[in-house]
Formats: sequence, structure tokens, C-alpha cells
Amino acid sequence: MKIRFWGTRGSIATPGQDTVKYGGNTSCVEMSDDDTLLIFDSGTGIRPLGMDLQKRFRGTKIHGHLFITHFHLDHIQGFPFFMPVYVPGNSFTIYGCEGAGKKLENIFVGQMSPEYFPVTLREMPAELKFIQLTTRPVTVNKWTVFPTYVNHPGLALGYRVEDGRHKVAFITDNEPFRYLLRQQGNLLPVYDDIEKGSIQLEREDHNLCDFLRGVDVLIHDAQYTTDEYKTKLSWGHSFYEFAIEMAVQAQAKQLVFFHHDPMRPDRQIDEFLVKYQQNLQERKIPLIVHAAWEGMTLDLP
Ligand SMILES: [Zn+2]
Repeated sequence: MKIRFWGTRGSIATPGQDTVKYGGNTSCVEMSDDDTLLIFDSGTGIRPLGMDLQKRFRGTKIHGHLFITHFHLDHIQGFPFFMPVYVPGNSFTIYGCEGAGKKLENIFVGQMSPEYFPVTLREMPAELKFIQLTTRPVTVNKWTVFPTYVNHPGLALGYRVEDGRHKVAFITDNEPFRYLLRQQGNLLPVYDDIEKGSIQLEREDHNLCDFLRGVDVLIHDAQYTTDEYKTKLSWGHSFYEFAIEMAVQAQAKQLVFFHHDPMRPDRQIDEFLVKYQQNLQERKIPLIVHAAWEGMTLDLP
């Protein structure tokens, strides 16, 4: 399995001199081998992926599977610019949960309605099939994709992908449950202790940890520093230490910081990466940590 990062930024695309290294395109990750093409999220990073796929497939038909975590703009906005959907004979199956009471397909129809975009979904020549998910696993060729709900405003999914040899998890846009419980759109801040959060809710984080147990690669939301997080509670994102804690507890082999804050310049990500790598070395924890950059490829042999 190969994992390629096409969009690593959270919230909004951030092109510019400060984001050259880690990239400004929003969420899009490819996991593929010779037979299987899985894409996670269609943020603006799906545009360069589309161009690359057309080069790679050189006129042969592309059949892919697109898994959406949720429908905030940074996760769907690139879809109308994904060139392979304009080629007849290509086919894509699109998976995701319902969003704010709307069916999966209607959300895609909505973002391509005439006031937002000149081409409607129905006019796209590729064959598009929509499958609405809950937590039932999905089989694609020899691969299995396990969805799970994560803690983010509205419904949002995370995924664990198994190709028979490797396990990779994509958990973007997730906030520790222990600080906040979301239920049917209501926010219930629950603290026994502002620093520790709710002991009762901590088990939800443990459940997610169990879901991630033993993954080769954990791609996890790392939008904030701990101090930033304290002012952004309920925004649905994690801080670096929490991503590390999840990876360590789940005994992941590699951790990838993902969904970089739009305000985060390259040099700060460099600094944080060195700091956390040193810290893990000092603690003698053999976890390999990366910060996702556009074009980064992890090859799992
Ligand atoms: Zn996001």
C-alpha cells in the first residue's frame, strides 16, 4: 500500500510563501496499490491528485473509491475540480455519512447547484455512485474500510483501512471526547477538572484508541498547540500532544500530524516536529512522527 498526501491543510486553502513546504491545499489523502484506488476527502488537494491520476492511467479507465469524513468545505471543495469525473467511462463510488440531516448525495448536488458552480453533478460524465455509511465496514477488492464516528461539529467519520497486510487510520477533524461531548448537535461541556476533562468521557477516547490499536500509520488531526486548543474548545480539532497520546496508547508505529492550522507557517511545523520527536526519544518511545506535506508518500511494503 502506498499513502500519498495531496492536501494537508485544515479549514481553508492557504497558498503563500509561509506554506510552501507543508502545502496549502486542504484535506485529500490517497491510499492505493496496483489494483485499488482509495481517496480520503476531496478538499482542494484532490485537484492535483486528479491531474496525476490522468497521467498515471494514460487514457485507461479510472475506477476509484472516495471516502468523505464530513462535509465542511475543506473536505469537499475540490470535488468539482477533480478532472477524472469529467471523463466518460471513469467511475467513482463516493462514501460518507449523512450531514446535518441531509443525504450524502444531496450534499454533493448542493455544492454544485448553479449558484455555486456552472456544472451540475448530473452533468458530470463519469459514473458516480453514492453509498451512505454508518459504521458498517466496506469491502473494496481485498481491502476493508472500517468507519467510526469522531468528535466534530455535526456528524463526522474517521476510517481504518486494512489491505490484508497493513492497517492505516485517517482521523482528521477530531477533538478529544473528554473535554466535550456532542450529542445530536448539542454541545455538552463536561469537566471534572479543566485540565483532565471528564473522567467519564475519557472512555470515548479509549474506545477510539481501541479502534486504532496496532495501526502501522495513524494520520491524526494536529491543528493546535495545547494553549491554542484551550481557546478553541468545541471547534472539533486536536492538539499535538493529544495526537501523540492516541498514537502511543494505540501502539501505532507511525504518526502523521495532519490538518495543519491555516495560521501555521512552515517554520513552526518544523519546530514542533523536532520538539516532539526529541521528546519521544527521551521517553524511549519508538514512535516515528511525521508532519504531512503535500507530495509526501509512505510506502508500506
Ligand atoms: Zn477540516
